[in-house]
Amino acid sequence: MDSSNQNDAANSCLQSTNPDAREQEDKEFLPGYKDVDAFVKYGLGSVLLATKASGGLPQAGDDFDFYRSFPGFQEFCEVQGDQLLLCMSQIMQHHNCRSRMRDRDKLTGLEERFDLVVDSNDVILEKVGILLDEADGVNRSQQPVMPAGFQPPKIVVSSWNRKGSGSGGRSGTFRLLQAKNIPRPQLKFKEKVDNSNTPFIPKIFIKPNALKPLPSYFTTKHIRKERPEDLDVPAALADLIHQQRTQEHIEYMFVHPYQFELDHLTVPDSLLAKTEPKMYKPLEETSYSFIETLEDLVALNEKLNEVSEFAVDLEHHSYRSFLGVTCLMQISTREQDFIIDTLELRTEMYILNEAFTNPSKVKVFHGADSDIEWLQRDLGLYVVNLFDTHQASRVLNLARNSLDHLLKHYCSVDSDKRYQLADWRIRPLPDEMAHYARSDTHYLLYIYDCMKAQLLDFNHGQPGLLQNVWNKSKNVCLKKYAKPIFTDESYLEVQKKQKRSFNTQQLAAFRLLFAWRDKLARQEDESTGYVLPTHMMIKISEELPKEPQGIIACCNPVPPLVRQQVNELHLVVQEAREMPLLKAEIAMQKPKGLIPIKKTEVTLFGPHDTSRVHECNEPHSSAVELPVKQGVLFTDDHPNSDTDVEKIRSLVASAKITLFEEPETKEIQESLSVAQIKARRIIESFENPFRMYLPSSGVHVNENAKFDPSSKIFEISKRWKLQSMEQQQRELESAKKAKEEAKKRAKKAAEERQKAKESYKESLQNVSTVRQKAIECAKVAGNKRERVPSEDGESTPKTSKKLKAAEKKKAKAPPQESFKPFDYSQSDLKVFSGSKSKDNSQFDPNRQSHNSKKKKMAGKKTGSESRSMSYLAGSSNRGFRHNWPKR
Ligand code: AMP
Ligand code: MN
Ligand code: ZN
Repeated sequence: MDSSNQNDAANSCLQSTNPDAREQEDKEFLPGYKDVDAFVKYGLGSVLLATKASGGLPQAGDDFDFYRSFPGFQEFCEVQGDQLLLCMSQIMQHHNCRSRMRDRDKLTGLEERFDLVVDSNDVILEKVGILLDEADGVNRSQQPVMPAGFQPPKIVVSSWNRKGSGSGGRSGTFRLLQAKNIPRPQLKFKEKVDNSNTPFIPKIFIKPNALKPLPSYFTTKHIRKERPEDLDVPAALADLIHQQRTQEHIEYMFVHPYQFELDHLTVPDSLLAKTEPKMYKPLEETSYSFIETLEDLVALNEKLNEVSEFAVDLEHHSYRSFLGVTCLMQISTREQDFIIDTLELRTEMYILNEAFTNPSKVKVFHGADSDIEWLQRDLGLYVVNLFDTHQASRVLNLARNSLDHLLKHYCSVDSDKRYQLADWRIRPLPDEMAHYARSDTHYLLYIYDCMKAQLLDFNHGQPGLLQNVWNKSKNVCLKKYAKPIFTDESYLEVQKKQKRSFNTQQLAAFRLLFAWRDKLARQEDESTGYVLPTHMMIKISEELPKEPQGIIACCNPVPPLVRQQVNELHLVVQEAREMPLLKAEIAMQKPKGLIPIKKTEVTLFGPHDTSRVHECNEPHSSAVELPVKQGVLFTDDHPNSDTDVEKIRSLVASAKITLFEEPETKEIQESLSVAQIKARRIIESFENPFRMYLPSSGVHVNENAKFDPSSKIFEISKRWKLQSMEQQQRELESAKKAKEEAKKRAKKAAEERQKAKESYKESLQNVSTVRQKAIECAKVAGNKRERVPSEDGESTPKTSKKLKAAEKKKAKAPPQESFKPFDYSQSDLKVFSGSKSKDNSQFDPNRQSHNSKKKKMAGKKTGSESRSMSYLAGSSNRGFRHNWPKR
């Protein structure tokens, strides 16, 4: 607790952040460190020690509880814990972050502290990103937003690094591989990227190794051209119309295409038995091919069909794209390494599904969580029969679970991490980067062998642990990619994390900036971090600059799109300034201890993270916590004496509901021409709440390749089709039969019901029941008190003064008995917004259908794991939040 009682780690942190120290020693970089390298070395050493030490602590649960029963241990933990918190607080303070780490009263616990740390990490890393760019000579404000011509890629070694790297060679230096003005690969994509605010729909249209055929929704996509209604209608609308026409179940579109196959996957005994690890070939002696043509890809597919296992990894870029792009796929067999240019072959990669979903071939990945999602999102690929070495490492309880640790442990290979943050869009791929990428998969099959043997040994030859790894890996395969969905409440999730008390104007600015950023990022296909980093957005919201120049001043360096659209932003800020000024602090208070922190889907920097937080079914907290709740006409909060909150609510809240037009009568519809009906349908579809479930752009089908009978793809497609056709036919027939039977049964039941009804009516005619009598009496006595039933639904449990006048008006209006709008106040509109719904039975395309058993425990875990650092700036991969536990 005493600040005098600092430990080494704390001291070194303080040293590193003390600017005075620098002036004292003019030669030394920092007192005691002659240059950056020396300091970094020391820093990394300390971090390593600390990490190791924390790994040695007794595990949470019984172990910890046992130790904790000794007062000595308890005291030691308290003291050390406080020191650590102090150290962290000081670092945060230095970076102007919220830093109430030790404030026991104000923080409810670990979770909030964790949030603070994550947020601070984000801020610090964003700053690091900016500084690295500056050191790099990148002045982004002077960069064109979109480079016009192609410039050859350059490997940039930042100046502060160059000094220290006299030794040359690989060791010691840390280089950021990045190229300036890389042509945007998105421009070359045959299928345009779909950044629309609609849920992701699987790209798959043909399903090899199917046990259950692909729903026809997917398989008929490629015959869209033949559908008459498509002729002059945008693809998305055509899909919608087609969908309504064929009455297909919307759920089909969001089911994991290989759910059934994965559910029915059993690991063959051969994979649970002990085998001798097969040594890898030295990397230098291994044949390597870079694959960038369809022909080569097809050849690779054939090769993969012949082996019984292969290793896979992906490289990804996220800074200059809204959703992120898969740049490379590495594949290693026992004999060969391949790197596939997934930017070039993006729309053809699906042919690898033949091997990837073949249950008798083992696919070895390390930490496949993100890969599984990227495969689905960009390449339409799925994996059946995965062995994830990261999962194995966890089951084996190894000291660390990163790939470089496994490489060191099993292969004595020092992995070269310099390229981790490289910009993987660079083409042609520099040799160094190819070498690094290869090493990610080259050793993996041998590591898989070793881990398998070890898992068996651990369990005295019993397959239990090994089976456990297969199961965990299968669960990774079941993950579904979910696109980040923007809702009117998205900004609150980010804003809440800031834990700053904004007044109404600031909050409004933040909300508007957030929407502006999301829209622009989708439109320009840039990450939100590239458009406007969160910390700058907060600065602007806090300052509410009166002039456009003030907005520029809040940003350093100024993001190109901010500079370009500063006038727009100025209007946004002005709009916020026009809000009535109220302190929002009261509104931020939440009932103590009642509402757990909601594990929200982080849509900010981690498009891939959205699927990670699914299991929890905590109550929605936003309505209680914050003044703005949109999308709900009337809140059902308990009456609150806090009139200020009420005031804010009535000032800020705006209902976002549009009631859909009443369906027209049949006669009117019939009098319309075909064109009119079509137009009407289109218009209606814009207001269809299910609109967002529908695809906005069709699944890409490489028409030429697929329908050209001479092409290899055609052949492959045919092969799969033939395989699944039979099955499909069988299923169709049995479904038909079942349907007919069900119809018959329903008809019978209806007839019987009708009969019963009639006989009941008959019996009633003669008898006047007690209730009828009572109703008649009541009618005579109190006509005045009678209420129109539809009013009930509209009355609000709690009305503010301002609303009351409006209510009175409403009450005077004559009740329309014939028109009964759907009562949206009762419905859970969240289901349309992509956030979690309280009611689990509600259909939610973003919900994982699996992993429900993990619920409570895992819900916590995933929540925290899914958050990590965001990176900003540079042309490297910084720019999104993700979970990087493995390297
Ligand atoms: P890996 O599986 O380690 O090869 O990583 C795959 C991709 O994840 C890389 O190409 C990066 O885009 C991203 N990535 C991995 N580690 C990090 C990290 N520490 N920070 C940011 N991005 C990372
Ligand atoms: Mn990987
Ligand atoms: Zn990799």
